[in-house]
Amino acid sequence: MKIKVVESVLKANDAVARENRKRLDAAGVLAINLMSAPGSGKTLLLEKTIPALAPRRCAVLVGDLQTTRDAERLGSVATQVTQINTGTGCHLTATQVAEGLDGLELEGMDYLFVENVGNMVCPAAFDLGEHRRVALLSVPEGDDKVAKYPTLFQAADAIVLTKVDLLGVLDYERQRVYEDLSRINTRAPLLELSSKTGQGLEGWLTWVQQQRQRLCPSRSPG
Ligand code: MG
Ligand code: ZN
Repeated sequence: MKIKVVESVLKANDAVARENRKRLDAAGVLAINLMSAPGSGKTLLLEKTIPALAPRRCAVLVGDLQTTRDAERLGSVATQVTQINTGTGCHLTATQVAEGLDGLELEGMDYLFVENVGNMVCPAAFDLGEHRRVALLSVPEGDDKVAKYPTLFQAADAIVLTKVDLLGVLDYERQRVYEDLSRINTRAPLLELSSKTGQGLEGWLTWVQQQRQRLCPSRSPG
């Protein structure tokens, strides 16, 4: 019985997600959903990514339980930013994203970045209508996260290892991450970067731009 309830919640969510995707497709906007634990560097990565994609125009939906801090940080780089406060909700739902989209002017946008609530468990279960899912993990979190939270990494189209400038400081066995990923997800690239030093950002930006070219081949590249 309980399982049926959960399934119907997810079914309803997926129907809204499909509508979101249609709206984004119609506007020619590539939507990327960023998921990770709190503090792994989603907001900072967006702060570095969005200016580097110029003249492409980016909108951002930011999910957090409380505060507008991340939206304030991103307000100076993105064309449009909306903060979604989930209260006690530990993930974004397609309905919340639909409401967020209502408040955005999608025409003329090239990218929509959705910064999910910091949480390695349930965001992966909720389709938001995004085109691509990115799972982040940071060096300070430890090298066992892929093995411990496989659902997040299984569903990802790209995996970003952040804060690699700390690799020499912390005991971190990168090889463990690659090995764990080889068991659960062999199609997503693992992109190593440091938003702080800029190391590896180029590879990430290339991946982002390629996704948009694939989705909207008729539009100009990038
Ligand atoms: Mg953030
Ligand atoms: Zn949740």
